[in-house]
Amino acid sequence: MRPKVTIVGSINMDLLTSTDQFPSQGETIRGTDFQTAPGGKGANQAVAAARLGADVQMIGCVGADSFGEELKGHLKNESVDTTHIQTIEHEPSGLANIILSEKDNRIIIIPGANGHVTPEYVEARKDAILSSDYVVIQFEIPKQTIEYCIDLCHQHDIPLIINPAPAMELDTSYWEKATYITPNDTEASQLFSDEMHHLNEKLIITMGAEGVQFSENLEEKMVSSHEVEVVDTTGAGDTFNGALAVALAEKLDLKEAIAFANAAAALSITKLGAQQGMPTKKEVFELLT
Ligand code: ATP
Repeated sequence: MRPKVTIVGSINMDLLTSTDQFPSQGETIRGTDFQTAPGGKGANQAVAAARLGADVQMIGCVGADSFGEELKGHLKNESVDTTHIQTIEHEPSGLANIILSEKDNRIIIIPGANGHVTPEYVEARKDAILSSDYVVIQFEIPKQTIEYCIDLCHQHDIPLIINPAPAMELDTSYWEKATYITPNDTEASQLFSDEMHHLNEKLIITMGAEGVQFSENLEEKMVSSHEVEVVDTTGAGDTFNGALAVALAEKLDLKEAIAFANAAAALSITKLGAQQGMPTKKEVFELLT
């Protein structure tokens, strides 16, 4: 049986402009390259989970523009169920304008249609959530929707991963309702203080090249990262979250599930682009054996 994973979150087109230098105020310069790439934390996690063999439903919105069509078509090609993705009139699709130079990146996000993923929007699709083995949310959609999803999953005993990225404070009562919370180390230090130690057993902290820290039976534990050739770390965290949901939905124990997600994330950084390098289950098992 394939596990059922539902992702509620953002769908963006990444607009990647490369340049040797940034223009100063009022200046126009010639850049060196331009590419578009499907992204958004929600969509990235959906693709990661689908490549790893889950039945994935994506709940999100795109704009009534050519990017919206392309983003939805792309998710379909990746075998993600797009029934719950609505096209919003008079809104652009979510965009990430990413300007890359050798020294620095500058990013402007336009939430666009992602702002229409409201509590009402999710409520109208709540059967999808209630039929899931695991649900994953991230923080590129409205805060009220995040709170609604947490309450809904908690009330119905649907396991939920909260990936608090980009970092945003929530009332402690919401963190307490998560099955797991997966910040990276920066988000963890921004959002969770020592006084919140009662959340330790829920926290799975990704630490880049150092691996993953978590707690089990009141003991702090670490899964070390794999040594791989680093090409592009964009989307490592999203691959980790998609993979973790699949492994937990397949009832792997916590440490095995983290090891699976850690291996999937390592493989994802060996190729350029957030989604391009996301591995299949076979590739993950090959790295683990
Ligand atoms: P991003 O924003 O780049 O998607 P993130 O900041 O959300 O990533 P990280 O903690 O940097 O998340 O990375 C997530 C996981 O990816 C790590 O816990 C680890 O499993 C894997 N990973 C990241 N960087 C490396 C690396 N250099 N070598 C091996 N594995 C890595």
